[in-house]
Amino acid sequence: MSDQIAPQPGIMDIALYVSGESGIAGRSDVLKLSSNENPYGFSDHAREAFQRAVTNLHRYPNTDHAPLRRAIGEIHGLDPDRIICGVGSDEVLQFIAQAYAGPGDEVITTAHGFSMYPILARAVGAVPVTVDETERRVDVDKILAAVTERTRIVFIANPANPTGTMVDEADLSRLATALEGRAFLVHDGAYAEFVEGFDGGAGLVEAHPNVIMTRTFSKIHGLGGLRIGWGYARREVIDVLNRLRQPFNLSEPQMAAAEAAVRDVAFTRRCRQENARWRDWLRNALVQMGVGCDESHANFVLARFADADEAATVDAALKAEGIIVRRVGGYGFPEALRITVGDESACRRVIHVIGQQKGVR
Ligand SMILES: *Cc1c(COP(=O)(O)O)cnc(C)c1O
Repeated sequence: MSDQIAPQPGIMDIALYVSGESGIAGRSDVLKLSSNENPYGFSDHAREAFQRAVTNLHRYPNTDHAPLRRAIGEIHGLDPDRIICGVGSDEVLQFIAQAYAGPGDEVITTAHGFSMYPILARAVGAVPVTVDETERRVDVDKILAAVTERTRIVFIANPANPTGTMVDEADLSRLATALEGRAFLVHDGAYAEFVEGFDGGAGLVEAHPNVIMTRTFSKIHGLGGLRIGWGYARREVIDVLNRLRQPFNLSEPQMAAAEAAVRDVAFTRRCRQENARWRDWLRNALVQMGVGCDESHANFVLARFADADEAATVDAALKAEGIIVRRVGGYGFPEALRITVGDESACRRVIHVIGQQKGVR
C-alpha cells in the first residue's frame, strides 16, 4: 500500500471511454456504421494537401495555426482571432474543463449527453451532474432547475449524440442568459454542418459572453483519423484556453489537410445533401417497420426497439451480415441502436436485415 501514490481526486472515478466497435472477428468486409464516420471519405483536396505537407516533417509546425484559423474564419464568417484549434474538439472541450472547473465545482450534462463530458469533468476533479431530458430532448428548464452556485459549465451537443435531436436557439439563449457571470454554456456543434443553414452556435457566441462553440473535422469533413477540432468564443476566453494548449499540438499535415477540407465547400455540400436524403429514407423505413425513431438532424439515427432483447437480436443479425452499429446502453438506451447514415447501399443493407428480423421482408 505504502508504495501506491494516489492520483488526483476524481481520476479513478472515470469510466474509460468506449468507442464504436470497428471489427468483427473473422471478417474483413465489415460495414462500419458505429462511429458516425463519413461514408464518402474526405475531400481529395485534403489528401493532396496532406501529402504536400509531408515534405516538411523535420520542421516543427507553426504554433498559432493562423492559416487554418483564417480558412475557418472565411468559410464560416467568423473572426479568426477568436478561434482555437485542438486535437479533435475533444481537446478543446478538455481545455474548457481545465480552465473553468475544478474540485468542488459542478459540470452539468444531460441524461443522454455525449459520454466525454462527465469524463472531462472528473478529470479536473469536478462533479458531473446529470440532468434528465424530456422525450430524448435537452430540456433547458430542467437544466435551469439543476444550476447551483457551484455550477461552472453546462455541456450541450446540438444536434445531440446519440439522439440526433436539437434544442431551440431561443431556449439556449435563455439558458446562456441565466448562466451569465457564473457559468459557461458549451455548445458542441460536432454535427452542425449536417443541418442546412445552421450556424452551429456562432450566433449564441456573439450574443452571450459565456457561450463557447466547439466544432470538429471528424464528422462531415470525414477526418476523424486526422484529429482536428476547433472552438469559438470571446477573445478573452480564447486567450485563457490558449494558455493550456501545447504550442505544437497540431502537425503541419494535419493543419494543411483540415484547411483544404474546410475550403472544399462543394464536397461538404454534397455530403450534407446525401446524408439528409439517406437519413430520412432510413428513418422512414424504420418507422414503417414499427421501430421508434425521432427525426434526426445529424448523420445517424437512433433506432428504438421494443426492448433490450430485441435490440440485441437485431444487433446480432446485423453483425452476422458484417454490419457494425452502436449499442447505446451506456447512453441510457439499452433498447436502441445508433446507426450511422451510410451511403445508399449501406442504408439498404441495414433496412433489409432489420426487415428480416421484423418479419416484413
Ligand atoms: C464525434 C463528436 C465530437 C468530435 O470529437 P473529435 O474529438 O472532434 O473527433 C464531439 N462531440 C460530439 C457530441 C461528438 O459526437
